Formats: sequence, C-alpha cells, structure tokens
Amino acid sequence: MLLTISTTHQSATDLGYLLHKHPDRCQTFPLSFGKAHVFYPEANEQACACCLLLDVDPVGLVRGKGNWKDGLLDQYVNDRPFVASSLLSVAISQVFGSALSGKSKDRAELVDVEIPLTARIDVLPVRGGPNSSATEMLERMFGPLGYTINAKRHPLDEEFPEWGESPYYSVELEQSTTIARLLQHLYVLIPVFDGKKHYYFGADEVEKLLSKGESWLGDHPERATITRRYLSKRQSLVRQALARLVEEEATAPDDEQATDEASTPQAERELSLHEQRLGAVMAAIRSSGAKRVVDLGCGEGKLLRELLADSQFTEILGMDVSVRSLEIAHRRLKLDRLPERQRERIRLVHGALTYRDERLANFDAAAVVEVIEHLDPPRLAAFERVVFQHAKPRTVVLTTPNREYNVVWESLPVGEMRHSDHRFEWTRAEFEEWAGGVAERFGYRVRYLPVGPEEAEVGAPSQMAVFELQNG
Ligand code: SAH
Repeated sequence: MLLTISTTHQSATDLGYLLHKHPDRCQTFPLSFGKAHVFYPEANEQACACCLLLDVDPVGLVRGKGNWKDGLLDQYVNDRPFVASSLLSVAISQVFGSALSGKSKDRAELVDVEIPLTARIDVLPVRGGPNSSATEMLERMFGPLGYTINAKRHPLDEEFPEWGESPYYSVELEQSTTIARLLQHLYVLIPVFDGKKHYYFGADEVEKLLSKGESWLGDHPERATITRRYLSKRQSLVRQALARLVEEEATAPDDEQATDEASTPQAERELSLHEQRLGAVMAAIRSSGAKRVVDLGCGEGKLLRELLADSQFTEILGMDVSVRSLEIAHRRLKLDRLPERQRERIRLVHGALTYRDERLANFDAAAVVEVIEHLDPPRLAAFERVVFQHAKPRTVVLTTPNREYNVVWESLPVGEMRHSDHRFEWTRAEFEEWAGGVAERFGYRVRYLPVGPEEAEVGAPSQMAVFELQNG
C-alpha cells in the first residue's frame, strides 16, 4: 500500500518541513499491524514527492483477535496488505501526526497556505453503491471538497484478462490546499471506501472522526454516507456523530439518495416558480441601486446569468459550497468564452456560508435565494453573523419556501418538504419572526413580499425578505 504526496510548490522541498520528515532519509515506523516506511523518490526545488509505504503483516494483524468471520485461510490471504484502508488512516495519524493537526515547527508560516498538492493512492478499493458507479462514488466523496480526480482501474490479473476488472483503483487527487486538510480528508475518506471491518474500533472513533472532519464534514453533501461507512455502520455511533456534526437530526438520513442536485425541488419545477422568484429578486436588487452584488449559494448560476445581463452590475460574485454546482455554473455561463470586459465583471468562488469570509466584504447587495432552508437550524446563527455582521451589504434579498403553501401541491405528500435536502420549511409567521429578529439584532430594516401566485389562506409558494441597512 503506497500513498504518495507530491507538490510543485516552490520551493518544493518545503514539503519535508510540512510533513516533518527529512527528504534525505528513509525512515521506518513500527505500527501495531506492521511497519510504515517514509521516503522521497524525488526532492528538489521544483518538485517533491513523499511516499508512505505500508508494510502490513497479515499474521500480526489477526493475532490475538478471535473475531475473524471469513474463515481461516482468509485470515492470512486477503487484500489487507495491498489496499488503502483504515490501516492507512492509523499510519497517517501516527507518522504524520503534526502535519495532520496543522503544525510545523520550521515552516509555521506555511501551514495555512494553500499549495498545489497531489495525493496518489495505490490502491484504493472502490465499489459503487445502489445508485452510483465506482467512479461516481469517488466524485461524490472527493468532488465536493474541490479535488480533481484521476482514477485508473486495475484488472484482477494482467495475465488473465478474461478474469475481468478488479475493484482496485489507483487514484490521484489534486488540488491547491493545505497539507493538514489533505491529510484530514484522506484520514476520514479512505476507510469510507473500504467495506471491511475496522480493526481499531473503539468508543473514541466518534471523537477521531469529528476532530478530523470538524472543518469540512458538516458541509459535505455526503456526510451521512461518510459517517455511516466510517463508523462501520454502527447505528448508535453514526447517530451520535451525525447529531454532533449537524447538532440536530436524531436519525441518519437516507444517504443513498442523490443529494447533489440541490437546486430546484421537483414539486416546483412544473410551475416555473423559480423564474418568478428570480424576477422578484432581480427587481429588488435593481431598485436598491446596487452595483456590486454577491449571490450566496449561487447554485448553478441562474441568478448570476440575469445579473450578468444587466450592465447596472459592475462586479458580481457567486459563492457556493458545492464545487459541482460551481462547475455547472461556470459552464452554463460560458465563462471561458466571455469577452474580457464581461469576464472581468464576474467571479465564482467556493465557500461555506457558515464561516466568516473576507471575500464577501464590500458588496452593495447580497442575494440568498432558496439557501437558508438547506442549513441546519443550529448553524443559522453562524450564517446570520457571516452575512449581516461581517459581510454587511447595504441590501440583502433572501427567499425561502412558504410551508403553508405546500398543501396546494397535489404531487407533494402531506407533511413532506419540497426537497430531500431541506432542513426546514417555514410558515410566513416563522419566517417573519426569524427575519425580524435578524433585522433588529444587526441594525437592518426588513420588508416581506410574496413570490408566485397567492392563495387566500396559505399565501404564495415562496417568500422574500428585503433587508436594508439602517443608516447605510
Ligand atoms: N440560489 C440558487 C441555488 C439554490 S439551491 C438558485 O436559486 O437557483 C441551494 C444552494 O445552496 C445549493 O447550490 C447549495 O450547494 C448551496 N448551499 C447549501 N449550504 C450552503 C452553505 N453552507 N454555504 C454555501 N452554499 C450552500
């Protein structure tokens, strides 16, 4: 089992300081299940690669453990020595412990800097789920974290092509990120691909998962699958971890559902309600006189397209937590083919709305269209501070479904929400209570507008709040 981490950051040998392993030495570390060797096949100013080679002792692995279920032979003849599994996570935490927790004695200034990094895993067992192929599985896990994924599948035996393909892949993950984030992602996600039992299972597994996943797992669209698989399907632990990740949700959601198309709920599609909503949002932003506008949770870029078409807006920023949505937005807006002057007006950035972000400062107006219902209620407070306290645009235009209207849709079973990823849907009173509180706490005035056709008792399908900074 080989993990290779490489960089083209200049100077590339900084990697040795970040990993706390000297490029000139080959070092060996004893582990409970074998040995880990660390060495550098390449180390110069331009390029540097560090290998972690696991030398797993299959006999040592099962010694003293009476719980091996698959028969005697399988105890000794299995894929454990060759594949990346939870054993690799153990090795990462023991061999690269400081780097994993974001520390570097000699390059402290570099630990938070994003540098071009590639992790190559030889080999990772990848099996698809009921709704996705193996490569889709890789995309679902690593894609939302921003990686470019390159995977090559290996045949079971090159000498016997008729035996067919194996579930084993060489996987390359590439991105500019910090070494700590890369190692945290590998630590949590590698065991997720491995269906086999975890050898190091203990009550502190939840702590380990949360400490390594703290900064990113809560916002990962596949967090339920990751948590379930990481914790080897032990329901009580899974629930405990999920509850702490999202600070609510007593049950694990049905994780095999496609969660990536977060945009337009099915029930709404028929009505083209979304177009009406965009029209209402555009009208509110235009009349605010804004020139610089940020679309928070921009999704696939429908509002961005409208903003781009109006020359009133000189600077447009789209932000979303989903890299996949941003890629779709980039394609749909044809950003690569825009004339330079147009291209300069718009930027797309990856980010979460629950973390303070300097990039959101100095905008005249922010749109938050059908986004807050995707946030877990305990994180709303963080969202409020990010938008209304730190980014603090003069105008915030925010929409969310009106739950009262759901009874009008025959296709929506009673009591269900419009989309499987919605964490809540508010009545008009609930929305106004929340928005009124926000306005008061952060010094905004707020007014409410219905969006879509209004019904006598239940109002309109969507609701909009327009916040304006007092004394702004
Ligand atoms: N505003 C778009 C998309 C709405 S769907 C539109 O009206 O078409 C909700 C979007 O919010 C998704 O693209 C989702 O990825 C994004 N989102 C959810 N949680 C987020 C978070 N914490 N930070 C940033 N974006 C988030």
